[in-house]
Amino acid sequence: MNPFSDSPAETIAALGEQKLLTRIRRWLGSAMPAAPHGMGDDCAVLPAPRGTGRRRAALVTVDPVIYGEHFDAAIPPRAVGQKLLSRNLSDLAAMGGSPDAAVVALALDPRVRLDWLEGFYRGLAATARRHAVPLVGGDLACHRGGLVATLTLLGRAAGPRVLTRAGARIGDFIAVTGVLGGSLASGHHWRFTPRLAEGAWLAARPEVSAMMDLSDGLGKDLHALTPPRARPALFEDLLPIRRGHDLRAALGDGEDYELLFTLRGEPAAARRLVMAWRKKFPRVPLTVIGRLEPASAPGAGTIDLSAHHGFEHFG
Ligand SMILES: [Mg+2]
Repeated sequence: MNPFSDSPAETIAALGEQKLLTRIRRWLGSAMPAAPHGMGDDCAVLPAPRGTGRRRAALVTVDPVIYGEHFDAAIPPRAVGQKLLSRNLSDLAAMGGSPDAAVVALALDPRVRLDWLEGFYRGLAATARRHAVPLVGGDLACHRGGLVATLTLLGRAAGPRVLTRAGARIGDFIAVTGVLGGSLASGHHWRFTPRLAEGAWLAARPEVSAMMDLSDGLGKDLHALTPPRARPALFEDLLPIRRGHDLRAALGDGEDYELLFTLRGEPAAARRLVMAWRKKFPRVPLTVIGRLEPASAPGAGTIDLSAHHGFEHFG
């Protein structure tokens, strides 16, 4: 069977990403456990083997960088290696994890330049050393016409708790690290530092109720943290927008690689967390940008998220 089709109705693009994920869940059936042990969170959580007492939950995540999709000829090869590991570390940070090891699979056109590949590996190695991630193996395959590098990252909870995307409730505050939007234009998409220490710190705070990292844009990703019958009420004047960019960019641009999380409790508790954060991470902004409201609330003065879709894979 030819896996490709020129008739749009037969393709995955016609179905769209969300419905495709639903199909994949159905095809996998009972072979795939429910989130967070299967699909649906930033990392899969592997239950600790029985009889191991105080062992911390193991985490695993996988993400590629693809020539023409995630980087192009304008990006130095070292930066591509750095980005590949960093975006996986960002997924680990999103669950309060710390890394154990990584494996890398490359699919390469035979015409790939040797000096490009050297730069890639040197960038990857430098980032691995910085975050103490041993690169323990991988695979090389031939892929005529393309260049795909996929990294699988293994880790474990940095503390007693793994923080998932589920757990937010109506009334929780919504908060975000860093600044949003303009990732491509600013070079942030390959220069960012994954928020590992920050993610571990947040996972250890009992008032943090759910967390994820921002990869497809706040306007799209926030739905994953929003429980049924709730609606995120965000305020434009609170959003930390990258200088030179606008609301549209902050909601719709992908690849922010910041942490998005919800906070339970009274406004005073949220203020205390922000004060403690500023002492601990004085160089990383933390901003409360809104709150989860009942879906039936009027929402006056809040951002209409239905107008901002974020990054659609296969679009
Ligand atoms: Mg993620």
